[in-house]
Amino acid sequence: MAYDFDLFTIGAGSGGVRASRLAGKLGKRSALAEEWTVGGTCVHRGCIPKKFYVYAAHYAEDFADARAFGWDVEVKGFDWPRLVAAKKKELTRLEGLYGKGLADANVTLMRGRAVLEDAHTIRINDELVTAENILIATGGRPHVPAIPGAEHLITSDEIFDLPELPRRFVVVGAGYIALEFACILHGLGAEVTVVYRGQGVLRGFDDDVRAAVQEEMEAKGIRFVFNAVFEQIDKKADGLHIRLSNGDTLTADQALMAAGRQAHTKGLGAEKAGVTLDKGGAVVVDAFSRTSQKNIFAVGDVTNRVNLTPVAIHESMCLIETLFKDNPTKPDHADIATAVFTQPPVGTVGLTEAQARDKFGAADIYRARFRPLKHTISGRAERVLVKLVVDPASDRVVGAHMVGLDTPEIIQALAIAIKAGVTKSQFDATMAVHPTTAEELVLMYEKVS
Ligand code: FAD
Ligand code: NDP
Repeated sequence: MAYDFDLFTIGAGSGGVRASRLAGKLGKRSALAEEWTVGGTCVHRGCIPKKFYVYAAHYAEDFADARAFGWDVEVKGFDWPRLVAAKKKELTRLEGLYGKGLADANVTLMRGRAVLEDAHTIRINDELVTAENILIATGGRPHVPAIPGAEHLITSDEIFDLPELPRRFVVVGAGYIALEFACILHGLGAEVTVVYRGQGVLRGFDDDVRAAVQEEMEAKGIRFVFNAVFEQIDKKADGLHIRLSNGDTLTADQALMAAGRQAHTKGLGAEKAGVTLDKGGAVVVDAFSRTSQKNIFAVGDVTNRVNLTPVAIHESMCLIETLFKDNPTKPDHADIATAVFTQPPVGTVGLTEAQARDKFGAADIYRARFRPLKHTISGRAERVLVKLVVDPASDRVVGAHMVGLDTPEIIQALAIAIKAGVTKSQFDATMAVHPTTAEELVLMYEKVS
């Protein structure tokens, strides 16, 4: 049977744009459906605007520290609408670039919601199109637990475009989004409280990182309420009244629900196309990103493997090799470096200390916690954490964990060495770059007893 397209991709986010563009560049008949904005979560409601706001928030400390270095800085205030407008302008420019990239690769962009009718047919705006292969790249959406008054909460989809900066801000959760926005809003001047159902932030990260991030955020004045969840939210004249499970009530101008994200598969027609979903709604795929239907594939957040932009892109690139280049390629999910853009930020790659002890039965730990040179003059108390986790048998560095200014930049370079199987002796043989924060990585000669 002749199909309209060789590849029909649903969702123009990080994964979908890359796959459809690469297919188009190979001369394949490639179509891409998008119901919202081309670029998806990362470009419009995630990584990019978030990083702009992280930069904006950091100026507060930069202005404060400048005085110690001799500058007389007079700060007259912060203009939230100006930041929102600057962000919008840049994202419009980026969306244009994405559109151009797709047009240059001869991708047919179809605006609207796409629904699967069967294994080869997609309905979009009441039009039926057919494709030999289909790629589901519909991403995820914020998960909002059912709580009385949940309609008064915002999610990360709304936060970037609030009409004004909230003065009192409460966040639920202690993962990536909760902590990043707690730091952004605090930096911009809000009073911030983080409410978390467990004890300690960033569950799943190395324990030293978790402790250091919490300590630094608390020292800046961010308040944590542990072992509590929201029970009810009421909107009153003086703001939101948030009743917690521990009996306390918080009052806030805005409250952010950052309790994780869910695969965006509701109403997609997965069952009609023979595509199996897991209990949480994520598309089940094999090691080549193939679903239970042999001509339908899925990449990115909708598969709930590792929910990061570079991972969605990597999965797409592997899929194009498999599908169109006669080169079956499995995405490699080992040793993925990641950053949490808190203040100070986290950079991490590889195994945590606990994971290494589990895997190897033992782990050698090298750790330093110190005040960076810049803060010795500014007087800021913020300290850096540098930690290496080493497999004693092979001497391989299997994990690196950092908290401190610029650590997301440092960890990217470190990830290359760890991916290449670097040993601790090779760290020791590497000359330091002085004076830097990163030099500590090659100066930790003594393991922690
Ligand atoms: P998405 O980018 O979500 O794209 C899916 C697209 O599909 C969307 O545009 C959606 O509108 C569209 N769609 C869905 N269903 C349909 C349908 N039926 N028909 C048509 N279109 C449809 N990752 C990082 O690596 N670094 C970061 O700093 C970072 N920060 C983040 C900050 C926030 C606040 C959030 C929410 C996420 C962040 N992420 C970050 C994660 C990153 O954004 C995602 O991992 C990435 O966007 C996933 O790409 P994707 O292609 O799977 O899906
Ligand atoms: P995370 O999984 O990172 O964090 C979710 C948080 O919400 C956890 O603290 C979790 O607690 C808590 N939680 C879950 N369910 C409930 C509930 N019912 N009630 C109260 N609390 C709850 O998800 P995020 O939403 O922060 O981010 C989603 C994903 O997006 C991230 O995992 C990451 O992959 C990606 N992302 C990446 C960023 C980056 O690269 N810098 C930035 C932002 C997002 P518990 O730990 O106990 O389960």
